[in-house]
Amino acid sequence: MKLILLGPPGAGKGTQCKRIIEKYGMIHMSSGDILRAERKANSDLGQKAQSYMDSGALVPDDLIIDMMIKAIKEAPASGYVLDGFPRTVAQGDGLDAALANAGEKIDAIVNLQVPNEAIISRMTGRRCCPVCGAVYHIENLKPKTEGQCDKGCGELVQRPDDTPEVVANRLKIYDEQTAAVVGYYQEKGNVILDIDANQEIDKVTADVFEKLDALKG
Ligand code: ADP
Ligand code: ADP
Repeated sequence: MKLILLGPPGAGKGTQCKRIIEKYGMIHMSSGDILRAERKANSDLGQKAQSYMDSGALVPDDLIIDMMIKAIKEAPASGYVLDGFPRTVAQGDGLDAALANAGEKIDAIVNLQVPNEAIISRMTGRRCCPVCGAVYHIENLKPKTEGQCDKGCGELVQRPDDTPEVVANRLKIYDEQTAAVVGYYQEKGNVILDIDANQEIDKVTADVFEKLDALKG
């Protein structure tokens, strides 16, 4: 299956993606994770992306489209879940053109819906493992030992863009530039699976699985 996971920052895209790939066996392709790895490696792309990411702005479309098309071309036949991409209509067009060229298509869009009020506490309480990428929450998904990754990697950190000021900017940018991506796919006639993501993590997962199972038939 080839899926796109849409939703505002903090909707639970990364959390649900991990569970989807465990059950259905595709790979997780997160534009944010790829960008953070590029920054860690201090690559040309990582350096270019840095200032945008730190302020919560979007990295320019051309850089993102090239980066994600390259990753998609290297994906295994089992498929992928795109997390955080496309985030603009121009990115949707770039993805569509590349897929059409390869004779492929997206099977469904999973649209995680959460009101803005619920998001701030999710984002400011998010804690991540810089080694394995696991994501926790100080209240909603606590690690076994406070501040430590369950897999023994060491200390958890807060992402520098998860501060209240940067989160507010990311939500504004989501409303201005990314929210339209759902309508873009609706107009194209893609299958959209709307999910109430303002529920407990396990309940959201159950709803996602139910809709994906129905889709697979
Ligand atoms: P995204 O990838 O969409 O930005 P994450 O999956 O990283 O979102 O989740 C953001 C934060 O909210 C994490 O700390 C995660 O543990 C927590 N979280 C995810 N889903 C839920 C949920 N349904 N209810 C409460 N907290 C959640
Ligand atoms: P979240 O999981 O909270 O939604 P991400 O990890 O997906 O956040 O993204 C972190 C930052 O990386 C974004 O604020 C943005 O600067 C950059 N980024 C990630 N994906 C894209 C994209 N598709 N287009 C432009 N910028 C992106």
